[in-house]
Amino acid sequence: MPELPEVETIVRGLDGRVAGDTVESVWIGSRKQPLKSPAGVIARTLEGKRIVRVHRAGKHIVFDLEGESRASQKKKGKRTVGVETRLAAPPSSGEMQTRQSASLQQSAQWVVHLGMTGRMVVSEAAAEIAKHTHLIAKLASGRELRFIDPRMFGKLSVHLQAGGFDPGGVEPLEVSEERFVALFRGRKTPIKSALLNQKLLRGVGNIYADECLFRAGIRPRRRAAAITREQLGSLHRAVQEVLREAISLGGSSISDYVDADGEEGFFQLQHRVYGREGEPCLVCGTAIRRVVLGGRSSHYCTKCQK
Ligand SMILES: [Zn+2]
Repeated sequence: MPELPEVETIVRGLDGRVAGDTVESVWIGSRKQPLKSPAGVIARTLEGKRIVRVHRAGKHIVFDLEGESRASQKKKGKRTVGVETRLAAPPSSGEMQTRQSASLQQSAQWVVHLGMTGRMVVSEAAAEIAKHTHLIAKLASGRELRFIDPRMFGKLSVHLQAGGFDPGGVEPLEVSEERFVALFRGRKTPIKSALLNQKLLRGVGNIYADECLFRAGIRPRRRAAAITREQLGSLHRAVQEVLREAISLGGSSISDYVDADGEEGFFQLQHRVYGREGEPCLVCGTAIRRVVLGGRSSHYCTKCQK
């Protein structure tokens, strides 16, 4: 499951490749699960829009869009896009060009959450369409943006104004130390659960939460309220360091990932505790312990973390 650094890596790759391009037409498959907005609304919102930039909000990929709205053309003639059941026949660009353009300028956002197995890839139009492709956006450059998701925990939605999407919580890479401390101070839940609470910080997942707690020397089960101001300050630094390091590693694998039709994985940060149960701590040699906390595996060193 992609975590914040992987999503940031994907977003940078997408921004470098498709910012400035324009969505000419959209094909959406028949499966409803990935759609948080109705298929017709997604298609209408994307079509004709220029991709201004691609950025990240928590673990969401956000495409800022701008251009003429085609919503007013809804009634004109039959539409070929929206919901189709066959993968074989995305609409041709010829059909798209026969439409008249409306004059209304509109900003919008297209938001993609990759869920467990989702991928957003930039493909040449001729590239074979992968199984489990749920959306294809044909771009003016001739390439296509494709959303592929075998398990369908991913989500696609559109928001009809700039800045319309609010994922809640604060951005862990932007939060100040003061604000960070205030988020956790006095909470009775274990610190690990608080780190995973997306209403507080958005985008910190299970793997990085374990790594951040190790770096800050704090055990995952400690109540947030029992952690000193100084330790919360260390945790704030740890969160930002761990995420930044992972992003800088991910940066070198951007082309592998986004170009791929795509089995390539990510260049992962060397985990110090996550997934290393029973293996020696890289700092002190003590066997790493695993406990289950709120249904999630948590890994820590009994000596380095208090
Ligand atoms: Zn240790």
